[in-house]
Amino acid sequence: MPWVDFECPDGGKIQIEKCLVSCRMGARCVAKPTLMLMSKRREWKGKISATQGLNGTRMEYLKITQPFSERPTDRAFALLGTFHHLKMQGVAVPESLTEEWMEDEAGTGMFDCYDAEEKALYDFKTCGCYKINKALGKVKEENEVIIPDGEDGSGFYKSGARKGMAKTRKVITWSLGDPDIFEWQMQLSRYAWMIKDAGFEVERAYVQATARDFNQQNARQYGLDRQIYIIPVEILAREVVVPFYLAKQEALLYALANKETPPPCAPKETWDGRRCAGYCPVWQYCDVGIAAHQKAPEPEKEEVV
Ligand code: SF4
Ligand code: SF4
Repeated sequence: MPWVDFECPDGGKIQIEKCLVSCRMGARCVAKPTLMLMSKRREWKGKISATQGLNGTRMEYLKITQPFSERPTDRAFALLGTFHHLKMQGVAVPESLTEEWMEDEAGTGMFDCYDAEEKALYDFKTCGCYKINKALGKVKEENEVIIPDGEDGSGFYKSGARKGMAKTRKVITWSLGDPDIFEWQMQLSRYAWMIKDAGFEVERAYVQATARDFNQQNARQYGLDRQIYIIPVEILAREVVVPFYLAKQEALLYALANKETPPPCAPKETWDGRRCAGYCPVWQYCDVGIAAHQKAPEPEKEEVV
């Protein structure tokens, strides 16, 4: 059934095709060419894609079986990714394959770029500084350090409750911990094995992450010093990747064949509930989503890519 309506700023709904013909409000919330780009949807053809497999089976089942709506303005960040990909399509890189569609018994996938010379796979992502921080495994440490005493005694409080005590200042240091990169790793590993199965060599995989919200404050908060990061991703073993996708596909196909709503999505798939409360397009068909919306006011919309 899937995504059939746009939701207007007043909460009213309109069939996507009708919106493209004429706006039901006084003025469009988003320009028509942008709406046309946003409204491109992939039809479910019975096989799970590399990205679908990372989502909860319940959410994917409901997206296939129930009509749902999305606000065009909530598609803003997804659109950034689309623009990035459209630009890439116009670049012919020697010895490279870009955006090739692949399919096997465990599903489908479309990788961004495979460089045959480097034997490397690249995936282009536009995401928030927070996500890049997590993917790099950056760990923040804040310490109060004593300001060295000057000859004039400037390192000490001269009055007040802390009189005579050494002055301190906050110092932030960054170290590297375990990267939180499971989804990217599983997705790229899936592409890597599909490319390998097609007879090509893949020795390395990288995410090229572009920070969409880079500014001085976010850079400081998340320990970043540039807007584009190339993040190496270790390719997981085939025995891990293919069974993962086969199981996800089987669960979805079973639910569809039996018209049986799958169990609630796992905490990792719901970003510990945040998705249910604000980012799941089919929450109204799910008891967990309904409960999450009753509990918390709808958070500010920001699509996480
Ligand atoms: S352009 Fe925006 S406001 Fe107009 S009908 Fe479409 S979704 Fe609604
Ligand atoms: S509301 Fe949460 S549990 Fe329900 S389908 Fe959406 S993501 Fe899954």
